[in-house]
Order: sequence, then C-alpha cells, then structure tokens
Amino acid sequence: MSDNKPRLILVNTTLFVLTFLGAAVLVPLYGYWQGYQSEALWVAFLFWAWSGLSITAGYHRLWSHKAYNAHPAVQWFLAIGGAMALQNSILHWCSDHRRHHKHVDDNDRDPYSAGRGFWYSHIGWMLREYQVFTPELYNNARDLQKNPIVMNQHNHYGKWVLATNVGLPALIGWFTGDVLGMLLLAGVLRLVLVHHGTFFINSLAHIWGSQPYSDKHSSRDNGAIALLTFGEGYHNFHHTFEYDYRNGIRWWHFDPTKWLIRGLARVNLAWDLRRVPADRIESARLAMQLKSSQQLLAEHQKGGEWLARLEEEYEHMLNELQRYYGEKQRQLKLHKHELDRSARRHLAELRQAFEQQKRQWQALRAQLHAQAV
Ligand SMILES: [Zn+2]
Ligand SMILES: [Zn+2]
Repeated sequence: MSDNKPRLILVNTTLFVLTFLGAAVLVPLYGYWQGYQSEALWVAFLFWAWSGLSITAGYHRLWSHKAYNAHPAVQWFLAIGGAMALQNSILHWCSDHRRHHKHVDDNDRDPYSAGRGFWYSHIGWMLREYQVFTPELYNNARDLQKNPIVMNQHNHYGKWVLATNVGLPALIGWFTGDVLGMLLLAGVLRLVLVHHGTFFINSLAHIWGSQPYSDKHSSRDNGAIALLTFGEGYHNFHHTFEYDYRNGIRWWHFDPTKWLIRGLARVNLAWDLRRVPADRIESARLAMQLKSSQQLLAEHQKGGEWLARLEEEYEHMLNELQRYYGEKQRQLKLHKHELDRSARRHLAELRQAFEQQKRQWQALRAQLHAQAV
C-alpha cells in the first residue's frame, strides 16, 4: 500500500507528543510524589495568561488584522509572550492566518481548512509538510516586515522561545527553590494548555456553535469556546467582520482580549481601535434570520402568503433600521449646542420604533417556525 501523505515534520511532532505526555503523565506524577509550591501555580497561571493573550491580542488582533495600534512597549511584551506560546514567529503565524481568512474553507489554500476535518484543522496541518515553505509566502505580510519588533522576534525566534519557556521558569524556580516543579507547571503544562486553547479556534470554532452573521464560511459563535480562548470563541462574528478589535461584541460576552485592548487604550498604550458600525452588524444578523426562515419555509414547502408576510416585515424593519441609524449618524456630526431636546427625543422615538419592529419580526418568525414544523 502506498502512502501519499507528505513527510512528517519531526521537530513539530516530537514537540507536541513530548509536551503532551509531559503534561498528562509527569505533571500529575510530580504532584503526587513531590507536590507543587503555590508559587508555581501562580507563575503558571500568569504565564498562561501572558502567552495566551499575546496570541489573541498580539499575533491575532494587533498584527494579523491591524484591529488597533499599540505602543512599542506593549508590542515587545506581546512579542515575548508570543514566543512563550510557541506557535512560530509573529511573521509566520500572521501570514498563515491572513491566508486562512482570505481562503477560508478552501482545502488547498486555507492552511488549516476546517473542511479537512477536526484533526487536520486542530493540529494535523502542523505535523506534516502540507505547505511547502517559500519566502514568497510572506508576501501577504509586507507591512509586518517593516516592523522592527516583529522582525527581531522572527530573526531570534529560537532564542526567545528557549529564554521564555525554559530560562525564565528555571530562573524563577531557582529563586523559589523548586526548579523542576516550576518547569513542569509554568513551562510544560502551561504550554500545552495554551497550544490546545489556540488550536480549538481553528478546529472547534469552525464546527460547533451558531452562525448569526454569515453562513458563507464554516466559522461559529460559541460562548463556551470563548471561555477557553481568551474571548476568541465568537468566531462567526470575527470571520464576518475581521477588522473589529472585538470578537464578543455584547458587554456580557466573555472577551478578555477586548477588555485588555480597551484597558490599554484607556492609559494611552493602544489607539486606533477599529469597530464595525453597529448598523452593518445589525443588518448582517437580520439578513441571516431572514435566510434561515426562508430556508425553513422552503424545506416544509410553505411559500406563498407566509413568505410574502415574512419579506414584508423584513422590508419594514430595514426601513426602521435605516431611519434610526441614519439619524444617529447625522446627530453624531452635529456640535453639542446644536443638539436640542427635540432632536434627542426624535432619536429616541426612532430607536423605539426600530425595537418595536424587531419584536414584531421575532414574533412573526416564532409563529412561522411553530406552524411550519
Ligand atoms: Zn482572524
Ligand atoms: Zn477561523
């Protein structure tokens, strides 16, 4: 039988297998025989947050998508934390990620296409030479090649990886009096958790969850995945509006990466935070609702009058949406003294009318769905 799979990448495979075995076997054994200092737990937690957030706030939202800009001190902090996360250099990671967005679900051009299954998109794509590296691959990241911090991390990547994953935990362990315990918790276990947390965004977040904004790609919104990934679980929103610095847009959405970026902006360490206008987000969500109701009616061969009512309500809602957001936009351009009480009242009325229309729309959809099935 011939095996046409590309060659195994030994460095990656060995690394993933050994660190996983270390976390699953050595970490509990050492805990059983020796026990861990509380310092090791704290350092592991802090390193987990530092390296995890460096991927989400740094590699992903800052460098891949330019969703905001940050002070060089912040960039260094994220570049060093990113090396600790051991997921290749910023330049390489972002180049892959930009290809993922541009060719999402294209099994030949998306480097971790979900169309090739859970295992492939989670970790399999890194285990074999599926992608032949050429310097041209970085052509989609020319902007990053001009960033001295990104290039320093790229050119000295190996040293940064060793310093953060081995040197730093060993040094802290030497101070606290348990080098091995610190290496196991803050080094190995922390690394495995960060690895698989990030990998879930490419695998699970393209399989499990809802698609409120678009079904043109396989990405999903899932609050449970957000808990494991520093807020990156709202992946359907992210693939639909990739330049937004937020992934979870509601205040109750768990998105610590968004909170970190906002906090940095508050102390002037981050700026130019990009947000998609609310009316575009709302329109996308309503269009998906229309689509799912139309599909349901088609599946149950119910069209005619029901479909006409649905589309009529939808048209009304779009009108109300445009009236409300149009007026809001107009008022935003006015000076404060030009905004009198009647203007504010007018805007509040438009908002109320839009909310009322949305309630009517939801009620109609609920009715149709109940009767269709
Ligand atoms: Zn992205
Ligand atoms: Zn994705």
